[in-house]
Amino acid sequence: MTLSTERHRRLGMKALVIDDEIREDSAAGRAVRSLIDELQRRHIEIITAITADDAISVIRSDPALQCVLLDWDLGTDGHGPSVAVVEALRHRNGTVPTFLLADRSVASTVPAAVMAKVDDFVWLLEDTVDFVGGRIQAAIERYRDHVLPPMLKALAQFSRVHEYSWHTPGHTGGTGFLKSPPGRAFFEFFGEPLLRSDLSISVGELGSLLDHSGPIGQSEKYAARVFGSHRSYHVTNGSSTSNRVILMASVSRDQIALCDRNCHKSAEHAMTMSGAIPTYLVPTRNHYGIIGPIPPERLTAVAIRQLIDDNPLAAGIEDREPKHAIITNSTYDGLCYNVARVEELLGASVDRLHFDEAWYGYARFNPMYRERHAMHGDPKAHTADKPTVFATQSTHKLLAALSQASFIHVRDGRRAIPHGIFNETFMMHASTSPLYPIIASNDVSAAMMDGPGGAALTGEAIEEAVAFRQMLSRLANEAAEQGDWFFDCWQPDTVRDPKTGRVTPFHEASPASLASDPSCWVLKPGAAWHGFGEIEDGYCMLDPIKVSVVTPGVAPGGGLMPVGIPASLVTAYLDARGIVVEKTTDFTILVLFSLGITKGKWGSLVSALCDFKRDYDANAPLELAIPALIEDHADRYAGMGLKDLADTMFSAMDQLQTTAMMAAGFSVLPRPDMSPVRAYERLVRGEVEQVTLDELAGRTVATGVVPYPPGIPLLMPGENAGPIDGPVLGYLKSLEAYDRRFPGFTHDTHGVEVEDGAYRIYCLAR
Ligand SMILES: *Cc1c(COP(=O)(O)O)cnc(C)c1O
Repeated sequence: MTLSTERHRRLGMKALVIDDEIREDSAAGRAVRSLIDELQRRHIEIITAITADDAISVIRSDPALQCVLLDWDLGTDGHGPSVAVVEALRHRNGTVPTFLLADRSVASTVPAAVMAKVDDFVWLLEDTVDFVGGRIQAAIERYRDHVLPPMLKALAQFSRVHEYSWHTPGHTGGTGFLKSPPGRAFFEFFGEPLLRSDLSISVGELGSLLDHSGPIGQSEKYAARVFGSHRSYHVTNGSSTSNRVILMASVSRDQIALCDRNCHKSAEHAMTMSGAIPTYLVPTRNHYGIIGPIPPERLTAVAIRQLIDDNPLAAGIEDREPKHAIITNSTYDGLCYNVARVEELLGASVDRLHFDEAWYGYARFNPMYRERHAMHGDPKAHTADKPTVFATQSTHKLLAALSQASFIHVRDGRRAIPHGIFNETFMMHASTSPLYPIIASNDVSAAMMDGPGGAALTGEAIEEAVAFRQMLSRLANEAAEQGDWFFDCWQPDTVRDPKTGRVTPFHEASPASLASDPSCWVLKPGAAWHGFGEIEDGYCMLDPIKVSVVTPGVAPGGGLMPVGIPASLVTAYLDARGIVVEKTTDFTILVLFSLGITKGKWGSLVSALCDFKRDYDANAPLELAIPALIEDHADRYAGMGLKDLADTMFSAMDQLQTTAMMAAGFSVLPRPDMSPVRAYERLVRGEVEQVTLDELAGRTVATGVVPYPPGIPLLMPGENAGPIDGPVLGYLKSLEAYDRRFPGFTHDTHGVEVEDGAYRIYCLAR
């Protein structure tokens, strides 16, 4: 079949041969050449290297290697170069079969530490090439089988052997699509392997997601081992569903749940669906509007008791114990909690802690994040006297998995929820037809993090982020010295080297320390850069891979400078050059250094930022700088230059006080008139009306109002919008006014519909 040859070609066998005598007319040279011929005859693709440096570059850049053959006498000065190759290889891959090419007389020179890292010897001058070739091929085949995690292995196996199906899905391995031209186009675009692995739950061999049986169940056990949980669950509808499953399994109607106000919409929905009485934990916010951690003093038992006593919705509730707490870790801007400390604080009030780690699935695999993620340390040390801990991770967000792939990880402790009970809620939210490739991609994301691969891959992302941050910081410093401007990153201004104790500007700090030492990234009490004041030392750390690029405009202590550049303008400029960023606020742009980062990929971002500066300084016409803006809104922006627009937008932000209004809008909790579920029930019954902002004063909203970014509820269903000149409506009115002035730069606020420039929101009918 053409398909299998194609697949074979793409996933072909590949080996690296490292020997400095490959081209020499010596016995060893002839022997290694005939071994290469033999391997090629067996359809094994061969890459060669004659120096250790060359070999190490190949190892770094080619994860498709399935075997390494290494000359034990590489180079001329002892065995150092060969040892270096072994170290580099095992640093990222613990299992790829590795053979030392040697002759028996030198075998005794191989130290035990090296022997432990290689698999076997090849006696080049004594064994026959046929014998050696067979051993190598067998090792490659075993390895290929070994690298597949349980679910992917079963799926690949099943789709290879089974030809005909009588079950759903109706396209039966893709053939259903072939019956019409658009179907055929779909088939060709996605390719047969994907369609053949789209199988139904009636395929018993693959087990069941709902019963956690068979290869799917094995895959969950495997994930539990890799991610450090007691139990893990595959979820095929995103962490949105994972959050809802956990909350609904933990809290029932009219029970009190603690909820980070900096929570995702799905946590808000979960509060509504469960009927819980949310009691909010309010995070801090800095001069850029970046959301900080919930300070430790707001998590003490006394503070929590006070919060519940102050919550009008809790007034009539007899049971005053909070049943559950949900915390976002890390925050969108990359602030990670010391989870051990949070457990200690919150654990005094609540038995079940739930960390929403949608953006943080990699944390366990790099020592940078030690103690700063939910499944930290040894799961066996998590004893029954500790809180029960849940984590939700969107594997698709920062690990490598298909969209919607998510994990729930659980460590049982106090008030643990037995699997049988938890699974009832799990099934309530699961489809009976989950997409198996999503599950297999979750499985693979675990396998990629397993062993040394996790530390190596996350380490690379951190190194790239550090290099980018230091580059930008250096450019900003050079510009400042010349009285000029450039973009900078939100990060410590100086770094104390953990080894030498020397304090240096960020861009001059040792990249190796920055990439490996968490103390470089910890928020120190009172440090000006973070703007979160006298925060407890060690409580919160900035994740190096989540980089907020800062545009000029905000004064160091807060408030606006005389001139500034709105970040949304820079984002539009980058977009016109095919660079799409993660998130833009008034003066920050978030870029993520995920596993997908390739070396130096950030170079194009730096050069685009330099181009922006050049065009801004020259006030380049918008037709050239951001053509789409002129195409879509010629009447508004025709004739303007980049700097003209920046100035106009900046002065509108100054006049409308958008940044300060946002800080004010989010700094106070609105008064809840009823719980989210009661407001939602009124919405479903149609007892609502849609009103303008002026009409909303003093009214109870029926849906959440969530400005993006950052996607934190400004109002939850059932909350009162407050007076027209209050912080909530004040903020919404400033957004509305800004949107009217700047088409193409309008804000996206869930729960708001815009009609002729006017915001309209559903509230409860009187
Ligand atoms: C994205 C996100 C979610 C939802 O995850 P999906 O996998 O997109 O459903 C939950 N929580 C937070 C904090 C998120 O950012």
